[in-house]
This record gives sequence, C-alpha cells and structure tokens, in this order.
Amino acid sequence: VAVCPTGALSEVNNMHRVWEALQRDDKHVVVQVAPAVRVAIGEMFGLEPGSISTGKLATAFRRMGFNGVFDTDWAADLTIIEEATELIHRLEHGGKLPILTSCCPAWVRFFEYQFPDMLDIPSTCKSPQIMMGTIIKTYYAEKMGIPPENIVVVSVMPCIAKKAEVQREELRLDGLKDVDWVVTTRELGYMLKEAGIDFAALPESDFDQVLGESTGASVIFGATGGVIEAAVRTAYEWVTHEELKDVNFTQLRGLDGIRKATVRIGDQDLSIGIAHGLGNARKLLESIRRGESDFHAIEIMACPGGCIGGGGQPYHHGNMEIIRKRQEAIYQEDAGKPKRKSHENEMVMKLYREYIGEPYNEKAHELLHTFYTPKSMI
Ligand code: SF4
Repeated sequence: VAVCPTGALSEVNNMHRVWEALQRDDKHVVVQVAPAVRVAIGEMFGLEPGSISTGKLATAFRRMGFNGVFDTDWAADLTIIEEATELIHRLEHGGKLPILTSCCPAWVRFFEYQFPDMLDIPSTCKSPQIMMGTIIKTYYAEKMGIPPENIVVVSVMPCIAKKAEVQREELRLDGLKDVDWVVTTRELGYMLKEAGIDFAALPESDFDQVLGESTGASVIFGATGGVIEAAVRTAYEWVTHEELKDVNFTQLRGLDGIRKATVRIGDQDLSIGIAHGLGNARKLLESIRRGESDFHAIEIMACPGGCIGGGGQPYHHGNMEIIRKRQEAIYQEDAGKPKRKSHENEMVMKLYREYIGEPYNEKAHELLHTFYTPKSMI
C-alpha cells in the first residue's frame, strides 16, 4: 500500500497480485491498456513526454507473460457504439437531456454523492475498462472455451479511481468481477523495471486482434473532449446517413476548464459542453439543476486534461506543458489511424453480429450498461 505523507489517503498496490497471477498455470491472464497510458509511460524510461509507445507496450506485456494482450481502445469503440445510440435514442424519443458521459469513475462517484437527485441524466454505459472486462469474461471466454472464473483480467490505467471502480457491486456479472486487478501507468513502469525490461529499447508489436483493433475515435478518449468528439463522429453518420468527410471537431478540443461548442448534425444543432476538473463539473451540474442549461450532451472528466493527466500517470507536478505534449500525441495517434470512427471497427461490429445483435438492445443492456445509486456522506 502506498500511503500519502499525512496518512489520510492510501492507494492499494496490486503489482504483487499481478505477478502472482502470471505465475499460475491454471489461470489465463490477460491485460488491457487504456489510451492515455501509451503517451505517458515512456517518460519513466527517458523518452520525451508525448512519445507514443503503443507497440512497445504490446511487446512488454508478452515479455511479462500475459496470455492475451488487448487494447482498451477496442472497448472505447464499443462504448461509443452504445453511447451514440443512447444519445440518438434520447434525442428521438424525448429522453432526458443533456446526456452526461460516464466513463470516468471519479466523476461517477462524485455525482452519486453530490447530485443524487440527478442520476437519470448520465449515460448508463459502463466505462471502456469495464466493458472490456465483461466481454473478456463472456464472449472471449466462450470463444476460447475457458471458464470465466479461470480468466484473470488485468487493467493498466492512468487512473487510481479505476481501482475503486472494479469493486463496485453494480458492475458484477453473475457475481464475478469484470476486471480482477488494476495497476496504474506508474506501477506498470515499476513492474517493467523490476522485471529488467528495457522498455525504451523494445521493438513494436500488435495487440491480439480478437479484442485489439481500434480506431482514432477510441484513442482520443484519453484527452478532455475526446469521448464526446468520438460520439459525434458516429452519431453524425448514423443520423444523416452521409459520410463525415472531416472527422476533426477541433471546436471540442483544448485545455480550457469548461468549453462549449455547437455541432451541426443533419438539421439539428447539438449544443455540447465539456468540463475537466470536478470544480468545473460542479458548475455545469448546478446550472442543469437550476434549469439554466441548454446542452444536449456534456463530457466530464475529473482530471486536468482528462486521463492524460490522471493520478496514476508518471508525475507531472502540474506542468501543463507535459499535459499538452501528451494531448498532442493523442491527436497524432488519431490522425495516423486508417479508421477514425468507432463504427468502422470491424472486430467490434463482429461482436454485434455474432453475440449481441443490435446496439442498445436487451443483451447490450445486460452486458454493457449499468445503473447508479444515490450515496450519502453520512
Ligand atoms: Fe481516471 Fe482521471 Fe481519467 Fe477520470 S479523468 S477516468 S479519474 S484518469
């Protein structure tokens, strides 16, 4: 356990649990890695902030002994399929607006405690890390012929709150946790050093394809504004039935704490809000509570800059230049992807064809959606 200087806070360290799992022959141990990790981990090995280490991560995981090496970006694309469908459903059926993104567990916990009267507005989509865990222990387990209880899912996240997220009772499927152990970007760096892996010198390789394909839309989940931009890319094509030629919604990007933008989709102007930092989120939530908000959709991330500035990342000590470089790397990775819209992810669409059926149907709700519970400080 890592303890803060005053002893007021502690963070559970799962590194030894992961090493133990990797030693066991009776367990199939798989790993997933979040988008923000790839633009920051290199800083622990002398690489410049903003270096993109996607391929090195896949190689490093294989050297550590993981049986499956997957990309949380795959599940970010899956999240967008569900979230864009939910947005369109609310727009077309007079549902509650604005819809709030739900992939940041610190933010989810904040609204359960601070705004328990407004739990019907966040999207019900599970976060990408949890969707990935669910699909590994259902679809992947069936495909591989492995009982889900013999699969250990490890997540590498930029985020300390993700450790608490996997403990949520609301997220258990048939009593099983979707994700078993979470380690942060920093902890992965310590593990690689412990194992004597020279990360900076590693060759690049690919993720395992069954749950490894990803689009540019999923990569931008790592930066503030990215989740809502990814959702708009898909919603645009699904609503208009026209090809979105320029996927860069630059009006949604930036580092201002609260941003507002309008995006035209068909004959409708969508009013979008973006906040990072919970103080900024509170301002937006209070305006909704007072009935003063005209937003259709709002993205909220607890950390400055979004997940690239997460509490589990290599320390940046508030240096916004480092955050800016990580952010630039995220958009660079997006721009370099041959596919940049989540619904172009062939492996995600195969999951719907083979296993789920239509997005947002009953099975999708059972597997990919959750609910929120009012929580009290007392
Ligand atoms: Fe975690 Fe911060 Fe990202 Fe929220 S914004 S998911 S708290 S790293």
